[in-house]
Amino acid sequence: MALSRDAYVALRDVVGHEFISDDPVILDSYSFYFLSELITALGHGGEKKFIPRPAAVLLPENTVQVQEIVRVCNRKGLRFHAFSTGVVCEGGEDRIQIDLRRMNRIVDIDAKNKIAVIEPYVSNARLFHAAIKKGLRAHVHAAGANTSPLASATSVGGEGPDNPSAGYSSRNVLGVEWVLPTGELLQLGALGAGAGWFCGDGPGPSLRGMMRGVFGAFGGLGVFTRVAVKLYPWHGPAVFKGHGLPPTYDGELPANMRCFFAGFPTSDQMYDAVNAVWEEGIAHTFNRMPRSFLCYAMSDSNEAAWELWQSGLLDRELTNGISLILAGHSPAELDYKEKVLHEILRRTGGRLAETLQQEPRLALGVLRTSILSDHVFRGVSRPSGGILEGYYLNESVDVSRLSHDASYAHTKTYTDQGICIDNGETNWGTFSDIAYLSEQIPHFDPRDEKSVQGMLDLLATSYQKQFETRSGAGLFANIGALMNDTFGPMLSNVHVWKKKIKKAFDPNTACDPMGYAFPED
Ligand SMILES: Cc1cc2nc3c(=O)[nH]c(=O)nc-3n(C[C@H](O)[C@H](O)[C@H](O)COP(=O)(O)OP(=O)(O)OC[C@H]3O[C@@H](n4cnc5c(N)ncnc54)[C@H](O)[C@@H]3O)c2cc1C
Repeated sequence: MALSRDAYVALRDVVGHEFISDDPVILDSYSFYFLSELITALGHGGEKKFIPRPAAVLLPENTVQVQEIVRVCNRKGLRFHAFSTGVVCEGGEDRIQIDLRRMNRIVDIDAKNKIAVIEPYVSNARLFHAAIKKGLRAHVHAAGANTSPLASATSVGGEGPDNPSAGYSSRNVLGVEWVLPTGELLQLGALGAGAGWFCGDGPGPSLRGMMRGVFGAFGGLGVFTRVAVKLYPWHGPAVFKGHGLPPTYDGELPANMRCFFAGFPTSDQMYDAVNAVWEEGIAHTFNRMPRSFLCYAMSDSNEAAWELWQSGLLDRELTNGISLILAGHSPAELDYKEKVLHEILRRTGGRLAETLQQEPRLALGVLRTSILSDHVFRGVSRPSGGILEGYYLNESVDVSRLSHDASYAHTKTYTDQGICIDNGETNWGTFSDIAYLSEQIPHFDPRDEKSVQGMLDLLATSYQKQFETRSGAGLFANIGALMNDTFGPMLSNVHVWKKKIKKAFDPNTACDPMGYAFPED
């Protein structure tokens, strides 16, 4: 859709001519979506790698400009969609794309009250390096060091290996500054009562459930321009340096952190250990670590990953494996936690992976990927260029335990047909203050039509099987407008409420509904 001259001028008057574009060359760079191939294969526009261009892109400088853009969209009958760091920037031909990269300030780090106030384009890496100087850190979701903690807190997901000690993103949101789809400004929590950023649930309105629920509204309910997130103690040095070349930097494990790898004779024993580690509260970071994922994340090429896989080392030491980092303010605290871990392993029949324990580079790699989410995305996507969750559980450990074999067996029927790579065993996992998270993550080839179609089928059948066996809901079952009517009835009719919320917040459907819900009819 081309923008009318009149609409273009009204939007340009808000941001200035330098910060609006409807030039196709610029717009093409906004037509990317992670795994566009799967989305375009669903037949809602676009072709293979490219989703349709947006109508225009705007780069506002501040909240007032965002409000003005949204008001123009309401007046002119346009649709907008905002994003922060843009891993899933989502084009779409009828949309005005709001790219928030100019809103990139760390507004405040309040060390005394352990709060950081940030704007959308602050990355996990920037916040991490700023906070550790003050002996603090924020939760880092595992989508990458370059992604946005504001996007994670307000709009999407929240899992990462540091969940055990820093919580899931939805639980870390304190004050929120939210431009509603009508252009009004809403401040959540204590901020809404003029009392500052310290509490997400008041005094002042607490709408965290509506704002994002468990997994987020994906830009379907307006624009978040500032958020306060909780900070937690950081046990490492004030400056965390790597040396060498990316992606596999060298460096030193901080003195008050220790990394452990352990394998178990059976998956049942591994889940017993997960429960115990959770109950004892000793983990700074935790990964239920499929062997193949360790190979991908710790190598800088597929050849190196394959060599490590073929060495047989991981089969010997990390079958049904976990890795975790322990941290302590003092050597005594760290010794205590290590003792607890040894006792858990003794009781559950686990073994420390002796050779892996002697590899400081591996320990550092786990630390970097777990604490900073550095290289995870690239390393784990690299084998085929495309990954997606089949089985996805945000449930109790025991529900994951029950579907452990089934989720791998189901994926195996697809790997046997050459649709995706056989990763050798089942789910990556970690645990948070809301649940144990477990993901079966097949690798497919986005350039290959058979692989793409096969993946779509794998997703549909995995979700169906999860519902049939009462083992939770697949990741996308509750994400995006297109899934609502299919899966909502199996999820306590959540789709009915989403549609009501959409209608109440966005009477003109000015905010793109695709990531959330079309309004109630
Ligand atoms: C391969 C892959 C792996 C992933 N792994 C993880 C993981 O381990 N843990 C996890 O939590 N997530 C994961 N995700 C999902 C992840 O949280 C997001 O995809 C990622 O953080 C998005 O990147 P971003 O921060 O650049 O957000 P963006 O791409 O900027 O935005 C993501 C979504 O949030 C909306 N949004 C962002 N900012 C705003 C805003 N200011 N106002 C309104 N809406 C906004 C956007 O519209 C968009 O729909 C993964 C995604 C992929 C594709």
